[in-house]
Parts: sequence; structure tokens; C-alpha cells
Amino acid sequence: MHVLVTGGAGYIGSHAVLLLLEAGHKVSVFDNLSNSSPESLRRVREMSGSAPDLFIGDLLDSDRLDSVLSQTQPDAVIHFGGLKAVGESVQKPISYYQNNVVGTLNLVSAMEKAGVKRLVFSSSATVYAESTELPLVEGAQRDASNPYGRTKLHIEQILEDLAVSDSSWSIATLRYFNPVGAHPSGNIGEDPQGIPNNLMPFIAQVAVGRRSEVQVFGNDYPTYDGTGVRDYIHVMDLAQGHLDALDFLNSHNGQYVWNLGTGSGTSVLDVIGAFSRACGRQLPYKLVDRRPGDIAEYYGDPTTARLELGWKAERGVEEMARDMWEWQSKNPAGYPDYDLDGISEEEINEFIRGARASIVKEK
Ligand code: NAD
Ligand code: UDP
Repeated sequence: MHVLVTGGAGYIGSHAVLLLLEAGHKVSVFDNLSNSSPESLRRVREMSGSAPDLFIGDLLDSDRLDSVLSQTQPDAVIHFGGLKAVGESVQKPISYYQNNVVGTLNLVSAMEKAGVKRLVFSSSATVYAESTELPLVEGAQRDASNPYGRTKLHIEQILEDLAVSDSSWSIATLRYFNPVGAHPSGNIGEDPQGIPNNLMPFIAQVAVGRRSEVQVFGNDYPTYDGTGVRDYIHVMDLAQGHLDALDFLNSHNGQYVWNLGTGSGTSVLDVIGAFSRACGRQLPYKLVDRRPGDIAEYYGDPTTARLELGWKAERGVEEMARDMWEWQSKNPAGYPDYDLDGISEEEINEFIRGARASIVKEK
């Protein structure tokens, strides 16, 4: 298949692009590189032996989307592109509604014009209402408590309406729990800008000496050790779920929703413990107040994905910590910071393909 991957240079996208190439698919990436580097795709090419084609473009530029879709004529689209920081979404709601909701509307309009009607969308467990019974099942009540979550909820609803309006669409909505970890080689991984908001990337930076200690946000929650409990999922398992969803869509029309999680929860203290074992020293931590807006515990029920897709998370928290440590210790400052000013898309693609080593200069 030829798959167009929006946001394919980013954290989860780059792992999915790697698996797609390894499975023999042709991949085009559409990304504005606002939160990623072409270095991730260069490393994906080194590992897989084949390069994706990168189209540098913004989901808000509908002309560019139209022309890329009509030029590439992919069989399917996987849509990772968008903004994802909850706190930032409270400060910049317009930007979140534009990039995520308007960006998705532009994408599906361009797909419709190009006759491409197979879509896998990155949603999130954040769309579940807070008081819902655990484990969370796909049919549970939805609600969102911040602008980021609301963008995901609105997009889910837009995609539902689209599938109802035209039965030739095949749409998979994947609700991710907490993606962590990296490819076991440590060559690609998560490279957050600034201070990481999420637990595992923060711990990884403590482990590598970039930050002094982990702050544990609250130890008086009604959970097994008092700290917050989440359903962490290895990014390789998550990426595999996208390939399985694509396979399913090849023979099914309509709109489908699957939880992608492990089905069990792990506490903050247990994640710190797993990471300490992975890096070989007890990582320092301090108990501090709860983080406003956090809930005690959630984890999903992944049974529907197992029954309908044959998908199941294979890796546990120890492997998530081990692979995250491999990435962080090999790349303590993340990907190199390149200055792409004045460098053309073709030159960046040559860099990804390995045909040009020097054109993308380090700052
Ligand atoms: P990421 O920021 O690493 O990747 C997103 C990619 O989209 C980046 O490469 C960025 O440059 C690109 N992008 C952003 N806005 C764009 C625009 N307007 N036009 C074109 N490209 C644009 O994030 P990620 O962690 O890989 O997340 C991928 C998707 O999964 C996102 O939709 C996110 O909301 C969703 N998701 C992530 C998590 C998580 O914890 N990482 C959890 C649930 C859902
Ligand atoms: N957490 C923490 N310290 C941090 C970041 C997060 O104790 O520096 C806790 C947080 O309160 C939650 C869990 O770790 O219980 C996972 O938080 P994260 O932000 O990674 O995911 P989310 O809350 O979005 O599920």
C-alpha cells in the first residue's frame, strides 16, 4: 500500500513510519516540522533501508494538502499531525482548535477530493468522561476537561458524521492510553521541547542528568500506593496497532473505535522504580502536591482491539523503561538541532535518503 502519514516525523509517527516501511509499504509523510526533525526520518531510512518521501506542509494550508493528496494518490492516510500539550491548549485554545479540528477538516476534504477514503486517526483516552467506571470501554461516556481533549472529541464526532454521510469511508479512531518508550535500538524516540510535561520523559531526563529529581504529583490518591495510576503503552505496540487497523480497513467500511492500551495501570512510584532498574541507579524523587486537573487512576479495556484486530500490547513497563533509557542515553539532548532556513524540501529529502550528508547544517 501507499500510505500518507501526517505528523510522520513526530514521536509516534516516526515509529509507525518505520513499521510501515519494514512491512514493505510505500510511505509519504506530510509534516510542517513544527515539533519534529527530519533527523527522525533519516534514522528511519537507515534502519529500514527505505526512505519515506517528506512533503513539508501545514494542515492549515488546504491548497497544499489538496495538491499533495492528488499528486500522491495514497491508498490510506494515518493522521498523527497536530498539537498535543494539554497545558498549552488552555493558554492557546484557538491554535489548538485550528491545528487539530480545522487541520483535520482540511485533510478529510482533500481526501474526499482525491477519492481517498481510508483513514486512521490518533485519538486519546482523554475523551473519556472522568467519573467513568474502570476499565474504560469504547462505549463509555465521553467528555473532555480541556481544549486539547475537546479537539479530539470534536474530531471523533466529525469523523462519525462523515462515515454516516457516505458509506464508502473506512475510518479507524484509535484511543491511545499513555504512549512511552522508544524503538529498542534507541535510534528514534520522544524528543520533547522544553521541560517535559509527561512523567516518563521527565524521568528519562533525570536519569541522564538534565534534571535533578522527579516530582511526584500527590501521594494521597485512592490508588494502590497513593500515587497516580495510568495505562502506559510501549510506542512500538502502539505503532503496530496502526498497521493492524489499516489491514482491517482494507476489508471493512464504516467507522470503528479501538482502545490501544495494556489493560492495566502502573503507579508513578512503580514507573520510577522500573526506570531506576533500567538505568542502574535509584533515581531521586520528591513528593509534592497534586497537579491541578489530574485524576487518580485510569486504564483501558483493550479487548475490542484484540478480538477485531488481533492486536495486543506485548511489552510491559520494564521494556518501556529499558527502551526509553536506550534512546535517552544514546541521545541525551534529543535529536540534533538543525537550521533548515533556506534549505529546500528536495534537499531535505536528499538528506533523509542519505544522498546528502552536509546540506542540513547543525546550528
Ligand atoms: P508529536 O508532536 O511528536 O508529533 C506530531 C507531529 O505533527 C509533529 O511532527 C509536528 O511537527 C506535526 N504537526 C503539528 N501540527 C501540524 C500542522 N498544523 N501541520 C502539519 N504537521 C503538523 O506528537 P506525538 O506524541 O507523536 O502524537 C501524535 C498524535 O497522537 C497527536 O495527534 C497526538 O494528539 C496523539 N496522541 C498523543 C499522545 C501522547 O501522549 N504522545 C497521547 C494520545 C494521543
Ligand atoms: N506525574 C508526576 N510527575 C511528573 C509528571 C507526571 O508525578 O513530573 C504523574 C501525573 O500526576 C500522573 C502520571 O504521572 O499521575 C502520568 O502523568 P502524564 O502527564 O505522563 O500523563 P497524563 O496525566 O496525561 O495521563
